[in-house]
Formats: sequence, structure tokens, C-alpha cells
Amino acid sequence: LESREGLRKTVQILKKLKINYLRASLWKPRTRPGWSGMGYGFLPLLLEETALNGIIPATEVGSSGQAQETADYLKEQENAPEVILWLGSRNQNHDEQQAIARILKDCPTVTLMVKNQMWEDENHWLGIVEHVLSTGFPEERLWLCHRGFAPAREGNPALFRNVPNFEMAMWIKEQTNLKVILDPSHIGGCREKVFWILRESFDYDFDGYMIETHDDPEKALTDKSQQLTPNEIEEAVNLIRESEKGEVSRVRKRRQI
Ligand code: PEP
Ligand code: MN
Repeated sequence: LESREGLRKTVQILKKLKINYLRASLWKPRTRPGWSGMGYGFLPLLLEETALNGIIPATEVGSSGQAQETADYLKEQENAPEVILWLGSRNQNHDEQQAIARILKDCPTVTLMVKNQMWEDENHWLGIVEHVLSTGFPEERLWLCHRGFAPAREGNPALFRNVPNFEMAMWIKEQTNLKVILDPSHIGGCREKVFWILRESFDYDFDGYMIETHDDPEKALTDKSQQLTPNEIEEAVNLIRESEKGEVSRVRKRRQI
């Protein structure tokens, strides 16, 4: 979320595509210091603009402090809107996982989406789920998100930004019975590879996609090479809808780690 105008443009694009969710980070974690988001001050604008258009916003909470600010704001609302808050890969430690879950479990309109940790390890991934659920956070409001794993020194010939492990994601889905969303943007790292990953994913049983888009990617303040243009997001949405019609098989659901 970079500006009011950008938010409005993207909301209109989503409406045209009949997409009911918007990814818009208020707090943007950065690999190296730089612009790090509009912050809490833009939360009312995000909620108003999306509510007016029947869209559910999704934003990242990088810490229990950010989760608390958001929860307090929602609790002040007469009719709190539905919101998705996600916990990113680089902020995974069990104290924060539990603290965030404890804060958000009392916000009935919040779905918590937890991304996998940076490194490739199924036990750690399961552990995240266990830490969140150990606080009494309801399973019905918990989603997972696969965004690939930080590449090892070898084993990334396609030079993905992060290496996917679709089989592991499906194994985690089977073990937890939770919805698993795919983030092809942070796996691909550039537009062309976002599409590549998207097509590959159709053989697996993901429950949804979180894809980055920008009305003018060249001017994006973060991750500009992986933001899809308005035309490209339309193409991506069409591809996903085609795949849902069963034109692409969804059979490779089993574990092969
Ligand atoms: C993001 O979704 O913008 C993000 C920071 O991703 P990750 O936590 O997967 O690195
Ligand atoms: Mn990012």
C-alpha cells in the first residue's frame, strides 16, 4: 500500500476481475533498510476503501505490537470488517507466533495466515501451526501460505527467488487439514517466473493464491520485478479460473519430500 490513489486503482482492477481479496501491506518488511510502508495511520483508509467495494483486505503484521494495534482498532469498530492478517517468513519465532495468536484469537473477524519459515524443514513448518494452535487460536480462522524457502548454495538451477516445495506444502496440508495458499510472487521473484510457478502449481491442491500486482510496476516501491501489471494479473486470474474448471489436472497431492 503506497498511496490512496494506488489503492483505489488496484481496488478497481480487482472489482473488474471479481476478486474479493486485496493484498496491501501497511508494514513492509525489507531485506535491507528502505521504505517500510505507510504504517498504522493508513489502516482506516485500507478498511474503508475495501469495505466500500465489498473486498476483504489482507495485510502483514510483523510483530505482536502491530497485531495489537490492528486488534485494538478492530475492537473499536461497531461492525468490525473481515480482515486477513499474515505473519511473514522472516518473523517466525515461537514467542511472536504465540503472542500474535493470543492477541488475534479474540478478534472474530480476523483470519490469520501464516507463511512458511525461511528454511526448508517440514518439522519447523508443522511447529509453527502447533505454536499458533497451542494458544487456543481457532483452526477455522487459520490459513497457511507457501512462499518457497531461501535457496541453499546449490539446488536452485532455475534461480527462483525462493525455492518451492509443493510436495511438502501438500504434506503439511494433509497433516494439518488447513487451507494452504500459494504465493508465487515471492517464489518467482520476476514476472516471467511468477507465471511459470503458477502453471506448475496447478498440479497441486492449493486453496488460493496471493499474487502481487501494481498499477505501474516500474514505479513500485518494493519488489518491482515481481509485481504483475494490470493486464498480467488479469491473465493470471484467467489461468487460475481455467485450471479450476479441471482443464489442468490436480492429482499430484502426495508427499515426495
Ligand atoms: C511479503 O509478503 O511481502 C513478504 C515480506 O514475504 P515473505 O514473508 O514471504 O518474505
Ligand atoms: Mn515482498
